Amino acid sequence: MNVPSLDPIGIVHSPFREKFGIPRQSRLVEGVEATLELLPPYNRPEAVAGLETFSHLWLIFLFHAHLDAPWRPTVRPPRLGGNRRVGVFASRAPYRPNPLGLSAVTLSAVETNENGVRLQLGGVDLLDGTPVVDIKPYLPYADSIPEATGGFASTTPGTHAKVVFSNEALSELARLYPGKEKAIADLLIQLLALDPRPSYQEKHPQQRIFGMRFMDFDCRWVVEGDTTRVLSIVSCT
Ligand code: SAH
Repeated sequence: MNVPSLDPIGIVHSPFREKFGIPRQSRLVEGVEATLELLPPYNRPEAVAGLETFSHLWLIFLFHAHLDAPWRPTVRPPRLGGNRRVGVFASRAPYRPNPLGLSAVTLSAVETNENGVRLQLGGVDLLDGTPVVDIKPYLPYADSIPEATGGFASTTPGTHAKVVFSNEALSELARLYPGKEKAIADLLIQLLALDPRPSYQEKHPQQRIFGMRFMDFDCRWVVEGDTTRVLSIVSCT
């Protein structure tokens, strides 16, 4: 069969600078903002005319950060504790025969000018630099199915009850982003409440320091019972 090759139409600029720590689905943390910059020759205002009237979009994108990893017929979704297998096509795992992802995101603004087209997005689960191959408006009448069943992921994932910051971490955030430290801390609280640790970690808890690169800093934390404690914020610039 002759299949046309895919040409990225845009590139995502997001605060997630590594895969670890990204929510496992879109819209779990609505406040995570990103920009989708359209690439030539697709960055023409006509190509997005009317898009601003939609509140949400589907993005079809490439899992570009592991294009070289092999796919397997079964995967172990984190929602099943990481120790039960389902078929790759019964999962949203990133390792697939064709590395295409699908995310429903919030559209907050469409900006067009002589430099091109930028879409402002919310609730993304996308790594910085993710190539997007298509954009489609989310159509509530067709895409929302209230009676749908969700298999092994039928409910929203639970969150960790408590995320606390050390004073040092908070004051470093304030030094790096004066006036914005509360908003950024609030985002980190929501991200860490989703508990990005690999699922086997919960079964074998040990005092381990986890870290993720977000915006322009490294955030390090530990999990003690049901409390996540942010130990440090270290600037990477
Ligand atoms: N909503 C999408 C993605 C689900 S998998 C879908 O259902 O297809 C989400 C995970 O993909 C994130 O936790 C992150 O670790 C990973 N991810 C996000 N962008 C990626 C990229 N560009 N390359 C590889 N992995 C990525």
